[in-house]
Order: sequence, then C-alpha cells, then structure tokens
Amino acid sequence: MIIRNHERIHADEENLCKKCISELEDLYSYLELSREELDLLDMPRRSFTVHFPVQLDSGKTKMFLGYRVQYNDARGPAKGGIRFHPELTLDDVRDLAFLMTLKCAVVNIPFGGSKGGVVVNPKELSRHELERLTRSYIRAISDYIGPYKDIPAPDVYTDEKIMAWILDEYERIKGEHTPAVVTGKPIELGGSKGRNYSTSLGGILVLEEALKKRSIRKQEVNIAIQGFGNVGENAARILHERGYKVIAVSDSKGGIIAEGGLDIPAVMKHKEQSGSVVDFAGSKNITNDELLTSDCDILIPAALSEQLNEKNAADVKAKIVLELANAPTTIEADNVFSDKKIMLIPDILANAGGVVVSYFEWSQNLNNDYWEEDKVLEKLEKIMVTSFNDVHALCQEENCSMRTAAYQLAVKRILYAERLRGNL
Ligand code: GLU
Repeated sequence: MIIRNHERIHADEENLCKKCISELEDLYSYLELSREELDLLDMPRRSFTVHFPVQLDSGKTKMFLGYRVQYNDARGPAKGGIRFHPELTLDDVRDLAFLMTLKCAVVNIPFGGSKGGVVVNPKELSRHELERLTRSYIRAISDYIGPYKDIPAPDVYTDEKIMAWILDEYERIKGEHTPAVVTGKPIELGGSKGRNYSTSLGGILVLEEALKKRSIRKQEVNIAIQGFGNVGENAARILHERGYKVIAVSDSKGGIIAEGGLDIPAVMKHKEQSGSVVDFAGSKNITNDELLTSDCDILIPAALSEQLNEKNAADVKAKIVLELANAPTTIEADNVFSDKKIMLIPDILANAGGVVVSYFEWSQNLNNDYWEEDKVLEKLEKIMVTSFNDVHALCQEENCSMRTAAYQLAVKRILYAERLRGNL
C-alpha cells in the first residue's frame, strides 16, 4: 500500500501515476492541495489495454498489445500521440498522458491529455504489416476516440502516413468523414501547414526568448542535438537556417561532432543516403553519451526519455537544456542541473509546439477553413512566447525551476477547470 507524505491511500494503486508521485510530490505539498485535489490528479480517468490480431505477410496471425490512456479531460477533449515501441509499458503511457495534460494546460489550449501506443518494433514490420497493425489497433479503440473525445497524433516512431491510415480506418467504421479525429495528417487529408516541423520550431521560439532573457547572442552559442528523427532533424535544420552553429547531432547508431559547426543540409543528405548521420565527412564520430556531455552551450535532447540521468548529469557542460523529447531528464539529473544553475526549459513547454499546431489542425478541420502557413506560424509564435513568459515570470516570482513553475501553472489551471465543473 502506498502512503505518502500527506497520507493518500488509493484502492487502485496499480493505476497511480508514477510521475505525479515522484516529481510533483513537493509541489503538491507546497500548494497545500486538499485530499480531493490530490485524488483527482493522481489517477487517469480512463485506461484501455487492448489485444488485437494482425495478419503478417507470412499469412500467420499474431496478437499485439496496445494501450490508450485518457488522463484528464476537464479542459477539453483528451489529446495525445500514439507511439510504436518494443519496450512500451502501461506505466510509460500513463506518465506520458499525464505530461500531455500538463502540456496542453501550460500553453493554455482547450484540451486534456492522453497517450497511446503499441508494443512493437515497427522496423521489423513490412509496410503492409504496419498498415494492418495500425488499422487493427484503431478498430480496437475506435469507440473511445473521436473529435470531441480523444484525438491521437504522431509520437515516437509514428508519422503522417500512419495518421492517414488512422483517419481512413476510423472513417470506414463511422461511415462519415471525420478529419478532426486525428492530427498530424498529410496536408491533402486535412493536415495543417507547418505541423510537421511545429514541435521543433516551437522549441526554438522559446529558446530564443530564453537567450533574450540571458542577453546571449546567437553568434556566441554552440548547439548539440541528440536525436535526428522528425523533431531533432527539423530543429537542426531550422537552427542552421536561422544562423546558429550546430556542432553535434546523433541518431540511434551514434553521433558526429565538428567544432566549427556542421553543414546541416549536407548531414541530412548524408543520412538519407547512408541511413545514419555517422561517418559524415569532415566530422568526428562520437557516442550518444559523448554528445550529451560535449562542450556545447545549448543541449537539445530530442530522442527518448531518461537520457540525462545520475550517470552523466554532472558532466553536462551546457548552460541551457531545451527538452524537445518527452521526459529526457530524470529527477536526479534535474537536481544536479538546478545546483549547477543550468537553465532547463521543460518538455511540457519546450515541445508543446506540436500539440499547439495540432490544436490549429483540429480547429481548421471542424470549421472546414484552412489557413496559410504564415497564419499558423504567427499564431504558434504568439502562444509559445506568451507561455514562456508566463512560466519564466512565475519561476522568478517563486524562485523555483522552470519545470516547477510550468507544473504549477498547469496544475492550477486543471484544478480550476475541475472546480468550475463542480468536481471539487
Ligand atoms: N506526440 C506529441 C507530444 O508528445 C504531439 C501530441 C499531439 O499533437 O497531440 O506532444
């Protein structure tokens, strides 16, 4: 039985959110939340575990395991990505759904939070198997998603091609066009202009606000980026286009560094041809861990979770960490960074650009009114800059980390919505 500081006892301990317990405990005591408020935040509203069959190319059928967790929907329909990963657990999905709830609240868009996924290594499936797996998973959860219920989007190892299959399968089941059921779709099927690079751009917009606050000029900084998937690659590209010096990048096979700066368009071409950034001419190969502790001013983790941890945090040299991945920093590393006065821009703010443009996409679908890219980018910038300034002001006022300030802002907004609904 789990009994914490404030003696919370739950009947359904299995479903408690680890993230709330470990990371928000101090904040909850500081905010002096009541027992009712804590109960409301500790547990997801709905969790689905599904087993579904997929026919493989060999003709055999294999059962797969999938999840969808709708953590909280007080502020609007649940919103969150779908990831395909061989090590995915229900605990991960629950934590990520909680983070999505906080993320939508911190940037003040009218959504709750959810997350889903399938336990699978998509690299081991053929394109047709991947399509059948996606469709079968959607059939398993189709009653629980919808434009006013819960809206999926891309996440780790899922992309716009997969969102198109989700849309098609859902529409076949419902028998009508429903583009707002999923975001991150191809533009031809109702996707929004700017969505595919919005997570990276949103992060760069808040980074630029942070640089302004610290009076750092872009010519002065060296940047290292871990991860060269959609988010990492677009971040490298946009930073390069804006005149920043990106000195190191990596993917799952390893990393590269060039102190004088990397020619990012050439690295992108190299990756396209060889399958990896490794062995890029004029650079030195390094490991992913060497990248994280490299001599850079700004470190951007844009890969998987828990990359910055008790083993490497003390060796991190960056002055600013921009979390473009979800949960890339452990609590232990967080404490080390606070002691070292490293400015950490937390995931729920740094990578919120993706869900902000998902909100624009959903809104365009519901109104059947499609926007020019300029309009999307202008509205994205406004939300990201306002959110950064809200969090930064609170962090100065309360003399706390940006993560604590972002959590505080989000938690207060969620509880306020619950109170207005009469749930508190
Ligand atoms: N998977 C992304 C995230 O973690 C996007 C979610 C969305 O657009 O709904 O923020």
